[in-house]
Amino acid sequence: MTAPKSRSYVDQYRRLILTILCLFWWAAWADEAVKEIHDQLKMPVQKQMVALTLDACSGRYDGSLIDFLIANRIPATLFVTKKWLEKNPAGLATIKAHLDLFDVEDHGENHIPAVIGLNRKVYGIVGEPDIVHLRKEVVAGAEAVEAATGVAPRWYRGATAEYDDAAVEEIQKLGYRIAGFSVNADAGATLKKQAIEERLRNIKSGDIIIAHMNKPSSDTAEGLAVALTRLLQKGFTFVRLDEVDVEPVMDSLGNQKAATKTSK
Ligand SMILES: [Zn+2]
Repeated sequence: MTAPKSRSYVDQYRRLILTILCLFWWAAWADEAVKEIHDQLKMPVQKQMVALTLDACSGRYDGSLIDFLIANRIPATLFVTKKWLEKNPAGLATIKAHLDLFDVEDHGENHIPAVIGLNRKVYGIVGEPDIVHLRKEVVAGAEAVEAATGVAPRWYRGATAEYDDAAVEEIQKLGYRIAGFSVNADAGATLKKQAIEERLRNIKSGDIIIAHMNKPSSDTAEGLAVALTRLLQKGFTFVRLDEVDVEPVMDSLGNQKAATKTSK
């Protein structure tokens, strides 16, 4: 008669071990989960107001895109890396001549994603091995922007715009606000002109658009030129992130809502 009893103890013990293992697994997963931050302008905003943000990761300077913005007096927030600044002095000179239109912010030193842990990757790009490296990526990027423009950045957008919780906490501790978005216009400058136009067709007041200014051979400049002209004709005005406050985009259940089709 003792056999069934001891079996049930063994079963309970096994169940307990399994539960503990699951909790450990869940804690590790929750800690390492990578997320995009989806924000919009803090409501209510003036009717038909949106923000355009452009990333300069590495690569080159998309002169046609910046020239279009200058010609149409469209303000934008530019997220540039130290790496990009060093490689594109002519582009930087044009931007510096128009700091009335362009707010230049921090996209890091070397375009390393803000996820922490050995060999972790986002879209195939290796993240930071530890918090010290993350700190350097953020701070050296900010120093490069300040040295180049004379203005200290207050916003940070990590490479790939994906973060884990530990990185978010550290970036905020360093005094930077993380720049989310609500509409992904060009999926890392990989989309064709018509797809970009399509993504900006149903834009609404308060949206924060992300696109790229580092791939002149892409369709981004052409697609944005058509889409942004249409927005100007509809009466939209553009603001820079240094002029506004933002808030998370929530769905009706109170969860943070996904941005319009994220990259890849
Ligand atoms: Zn980037």
